[in-house]
Amino acid sequence: MPISATTSKTWRSRASAIAVEACALLVLIGCVAAVRSPDAQTPAAPQVSNAADAASAGMVEIRSLVADMSMDIRYAGSDNFVGRPVDGYRGAGCYLHRNVAQALARVERELRPQGLRLHIYDCYRPVRAVRDFVRWAGDLSDQKTKARYYPALDKRVLLGDYISPTSGHSRGATVDLGLMESHAGGDRIVEMGTGFDYFDKRAHTDSPDITAAQRANRQRLRAAMQREGFENYPLEWWHYTYKPEPTPATAFDFPVE
Ligand SMILES: [Zn+2]
Repeated sequence: MPISATTSKTWRSRASAIAVEACALLVLIGCVAAVRSPDAQTPAAPQVSNAADAASAGMVEIRSLVADMSMDIRYAGSDNFVGRPVDGYRGAGCYLHRNVAQALARVERELRPQGLRLHIYDCYRPVRAVRDFVRWAGDLSDQKTKARYYPALDKRVLLGDYISPTSGHSRGATVDLGLMESHAGGDRIVEMGTGFDYFDKRAHTDSPDITAAQRANRQRLRAAMQREGFENYPLEWWHYTYKPEPTPATAFDFPVE
């Protein structure tokens, strides 16, 4: 028995060493499965529609429903983890399927009497933008946004855990957003404990590593969104998907204007 136990132990440690090497190789060739990304919830890669614009995709710009919606579409500018405008963003619009946009407008209407409003960072995201993220993640020589977006992580782990080869955002039912608070001197961002797209455990919606006030703010956003049919992704306080999705098996690639 002792011999077989030893053999078994040796085999187990050899097997785990092989698994570690295999994982390291997968990371190097960029084929990591999206184990923890929101897009891991999608069973198969969706078909990409050939719709050339929002109207033919059945989407609307949110300001057609809420004219003064607060927005800071980060991938249209340079204040994002890539550090430059992302491929596919010609403008800073927020496009969503019509019924999703209508649900978001209802959330906004419910928040305003409380002195709060939504603050949108991203909505529909073209397939080509997601490909741009993957290319950026594979370029380990470019570390210029590390201090602001992933200070505690090695860039090599971003692909898979944080950046996925496909995104639910491309299906037009997912939105990234926070809250703004009205004050006499103007609106200001509601403190959520991390910035948008901060790649860290503190971005987990129920993270214990933020203040009670920050946690309460996240819960307030989540409660308002859930009331209108949006589900939060627990590893990112800002990421919400409307359920059921209007086009769960179709992604889009028309540019954001
Ligand atoms: Zn998101």
